[in-house]
Amino acid sequence: MRSEYRIWGALGIFVACHFLWLLAFKGHPVLWDVGGSVFMIAGGLLSSLWLFQASRKYRSYPVVRNLFFLLGLGSVFFVFGEVIWMVRTSLLGQEIDTLDWIEIFYASQIVAYIAALKYVIIKNRHQLHVGRFLFDELIVLAVGLAAGWQFLIEPYVQQSNLESLELLILLRYPVGDLFLLFGMLVIFLTLKTRQNNLSLLLVLVGFHFQFAGDLLYVLPYGMEYDLTGQLIDPLWLAAVLSVGAAARLYQVEGDARVTSWLDRRFELVRLVTPYIFLFVLFLGISYRTLEPNALSAGLLVAIPLLIARQIRILIENRQLQEELEAKVTERTAQLEATLQEMEHMAYHDALTNLPNRYLFARLFKEELSRAERHERLAALYFVDVDHFKEINDTYGHLVGDEMIVEVASRMQKHLPHNTLISRQGGDEFVVLLFDIHTSEEADRCGEQLIDIFRQPFVIQGKIICTTASIGGSIYPRHGTSRADLIEHADMAMYRAKRQGRNQFVPYCKEKEESLS
Ligand code: GH3
Ligand code: MG
Repeated sequence: MRSEYRIWGALGIFVACHFLWLLAFKGHPVLWDVGGSVFMIAGGLLSSLWLFQASRKYRSYPVVRNLFFLLGLGSVFFVFGEVIWMVRTSLLGQEIDTLDWIEIFYASQIVAYIAALKYVIIKNRHQLHVGRFLFDELIVLAVGLAAGWQFLIEPYVQQSNLESLELLILLRYPVGDLFLLFGMLVIFLTLKTRQNNLSLLLVLVGFHFQFAGDLLYVLPYGMEYDLTGQLIDPLWLAAVLSVGAAARLYQVEGDARVTSWLDRRFELVRLVTPYIFLFVLFLGISYRTLEPNALSAGLLVAIPLLIARQIRILIENRQLQEELEAKVTERTAQLEATLQEMEHMAYHDALTNLPNRYLFARLFKEELSRAERHERLAALYFVDVDHFKEINDTYGHLVGDEMIVEVASRMQKHLPHNTLISRQGGDEFVVLLFDIHTSEEADRCGEQLIDIFRQPFVIQGKIICTTASIGGSIYPRHGTSRADLIEHADMAMYRAKRQGRNQFVPYCKEKEESLS
C-alpha cells in the first residue's frame, strides 16, 4: 500500500509542478512552451514505459497484456504529438492551428484508448450484467447523447463556414469522448467482479481527466468565452499518468480489502449515476427552455427534491441490504459452528471427549483394511474397570465420573501413539493398537493397560485404588472381521473377570470352546 501512496503522491506533485510552471512563466513564451512540453513529454514517456513494462510482465495473461499494450500505444501517440508540437512551436517557431495534421496523433491516442476499452468489454462480456443494468445505462446514454449533441456537436454543425473535413476533425473530441464515456460506463456499471479494482479505477480516473481536458478544450467553440489552451495541458498530463500508474500498480491478485472497499463505493456510485445524469438533463432543459414563471420555479424545486428523495431511498435500501447480508453472514457462521459442535458431539463421548462407539467403528474399519493391505497385525482390547459400582456407591456418581475421565487421560498419556482409544459406555473402554508386526507388541500393550491402574487415583482429595480386567484379540489370528475381533476381545475380558480381575487375558480359542 505504501508504494502506491508514494506513486500517487509523486504523480500529483508532478502534475501540480506542471501547472505551477505554466502559471509562473506565462510571460516568457519560450520557457512556457518548452517547459510545458518537457513536462508533457516526460509524463507521456513514463506512462508508455510503465504500460509496456506491464504488458511484457503479464505476457502470460493475454487480456492484461493486450489491454496495457493498447493503452501504451495511446500514450506513445500522445508523446509523438507532444514532441512534434514542441519542435514546431519552439524550434521552428510555427503557429499551430486547431485543424493541423498534428491532431492525427491526439485523435489516435483517443482511438487507442477506445480500442482498449472495447477490448476489455469484449473479453469480459460473459461477466457483464447487461440485462440488470440495461435501464441504468440507457438513462445515462440518453442523457449523455442528448447533452453531447446539444452542447458539443450542434455548435460545430451550426458553424456553416466549416468544411466537412474540418468538422470531422473538430468533432473527434466530443464524439471520441462520448465513445470513451460509453465504454467507461459499460465497465463501471455492469462489470460483476472487479478484480484489481485499483488499476481499473486509475484507468477510469485517467479517462475522466482526458474527458475533462477535451471538454474544456472544445467548449469555447460552442460558447462565447475563451480558455487559455495550454492551461488544460495538466489535465491531459494527469490522464496519461493515471493510465500509466494503473499499469505500474497492477497486481494479478488485487488486495481483497481494497477490492471490497472499492466494490461498495462502485455499487453506490452505480446506483446514483443515472439520477445524476437525469439531473444534468434537467439542468440543461431549465437553462435552455424554461420560462421564468411560478410553474417553472415550482418545477425547479420539485424535480431536484424528487431526485434527492429517490437517491435517499436507494441509499437506505442499500444500507438495509448490507445489514441483512451482515446478519445472514453472522447467522451462517453461528450455524456452521453449531453444526460442527453437534457433529463433534455425535461422534465423541461427552464425559471424556474420546471417540464414541460410532466413530470408533468407522476408524476401526479403516485401520483393519489398512492392516490387510499392508499385511500388518492389529490388536483390540476391552477394558472394564473392576467393581466400579462400589466406587459410585461409596464416593458418589460425581467421583465416579471424574474417575472415568482420569482413566481416559491416563490411557491417552501412557499408551503408544499408534492406539485408538474409545469409551463404549459405563466403565468400559475399547483400545485398538494398529500398525504392529508381532503379537509380543500386542501383549506389551495389554500389560501397559494393567499398569495404568497400578497407581492409586486421587479424586477430590480421596485416594482410590482400583484395577481393571482386560481382554484382547489379535488381527488376523483371532479373527479377520470387526465383529469377530470384538466378540473375542469381549470374551477374553469376561474370562479375566472370572479369573479374579486385575489382569490382561489374550483370547484363546481352545479355552473358550472348552468352556462352552
Ligand atoms: P465389574 O468388576 O464386574 O465390572 O463390576 P462393576 O461394578 O464395574 O460392574 P459393571 O462394569 O457391570 O458396571 C459399571 C457401572 O458403572 C454401572 C453403572 O452404575 C456405572 N456407570 C455407567 N455409566 C456411568 C457414568 O457415566 N458415570 C458413572 N459415575 N457411573 C457409570
Ligand atoms: Mg466394571
